[in-house]
Amino acid sequence: MVNLVFVGIQGSGKGTQAQFLNNKYGLKHVNIGSLLRLHVKKKTKIGREIQSTIENGKLVDDDIIFYLIKKEIQNNNDGLILDGFPRNVSQANYLQEKIKIDFVFFFELADDIAMKRLNARRICINCGKDYNLLSKKPKKDEVCDFCNDKLFTRKDDTEEAISKRLYSFHKYTENVISFYEGQSKLVKFNAGKPPEQIHREIIEVLENHQRV
Ligand code: AMP
Repeated sequence: MVNLVFVGIQGSGKGTQAQFLNNKYGLKHVNIGSLLRLHVKKKTKIGREIQSTIENGKLVDDDIIFYLIKKEIQNNNDGLILDGFPRNVSQANYLQEKIKIDFVFFFELADDIAMKRLNARRICINCGKDYNLLSKKPKKDEVCDFCNDKLFTRKDDTEEAISKRLYSFHKYTENVISFYEGQSKLVKFNAGKPPEQIHREIIEVLENHQRV
């Protein structure tokens, strides 16, 4: 069993790599951003509280994040991938008290490339499948290949919100990288490479350490 943390600016391909590992090893993919968006969509109490924070590209309060993450990491028997958590040092400290993390994978990408990728991101309104108009186009414009439903742009994929998300990454999440570097758990990947190549590099790391 292996527990992983994925860190990287939005658009660095964390979700794609998590999906690959979920398919290969059955690791549970915990995507905190998706969980938060689901609350917004369902208009729950939490959803109403966090909607404007998310849409503005700011970080949601730790207390809400801890409440949601606690549910996800309990009864963990098969290993998991934490995608988008922790995003600041207080979250990293919280996690350290709860479970043992084996590796922290950092997907490095320049801000200008992330900005281009996020501007081109589209998501199916029905099944949530994600596309990119630059690298992973749908067969028909603005229509999902799988369910034929419409594609939409996330409200926080506007240039203004993306800039704020990049700002909070540099201000808060880079400290998380140093935190794990100090524990020799950090492995860096060049997120500008093709996803399949990064996937092979990840497998090499995991299988060399025989932790899966
Ligand atoms: P993402 O899908 O990872 O881009 O996350 C979308 C938004 O959810 C972020 O811009 C934040 O507003 C919020 N969010 C996601 N993960 C966290 C976290 N660990 N701490 C605080 N806010 C978060």
